Amino acid sequence: MPRVLLVEDEATLRDLVAQYLRREGFEVSTTGNGDEALDLARNEPPDVCVFDVMLPGMDGLSLCRILRKESEVPILLLTARGAEIDRVIGLESGADDYIVKPFSLPELVARMRAALRRVPKPHSDRLQAGDLVMDLTARRVFLVDREIKLSHKEFELLATLMRNKGAVLTREFLITQVWGFDFEGDPRTVDVHMRWLREKLEKDPSHPERLQTVRGVGYRID
Ligand code: CA
Repeated sequence: MPRVLLVEDEATLRDLVAQYLRREGFEVSTTGNGDEALDLARNEPPDVCVFDVMLPGMDGLSLCRILRKESEVPILLLTARGAEIDRVIGLESGADDYIVKPFSLPELVARMRAALRRVPKPHSDRLQAGDLVMDLTARRVFLVDREIKLSHKEFELLATLMRNKGAVLTREFLITQVWGFDFEGDPRTVDVHMRWLREKLEKDPSHPERLQTVRGVGYRID
């Protein structure tokens, strides 16, 4: 069970997130205070951290900066403020990712899992969803033993969906994962790439069986 350190001073939100994470199979330690969080992180090193930015005691960014010097643990920041400057500061602090409140719990979990997977592990070079297999090292994709040629972005988009199999991923999340935080183009570029992927991977691209659209939210691979 991956251990998560959740630091959030809003008790209602903290309890809600903690409860959800436990149901998702995480072992959860919580606190609402930044100074206490640092002690907890040092005494019982977590596998992944989720820090609110605005906290009593040490704030989330300082916490992140200090901890980053001591460990490689993935850190996600929760921020109530979406302004660009906050995002930049957040990432300069050594955070792996951030999520703007209000957020969806499944998306938080998807991002935590993605951050956990970025910690190098052996044998993590193969992804599978039914008869669709990706070899990440060789960058090859096979559908029922037939090789499918994908462009670089199509490959990254499919890999992101397959790493988070079953979870609904928002366009914003897919853009940061595939195109990067500094992407300034049209968010519909995700839809265009999804259409191309469906043309290559679906029997009937207008009635997809693998690459599902979740209306108003984003995409999911089953
Ligand atoms: Ca707060």
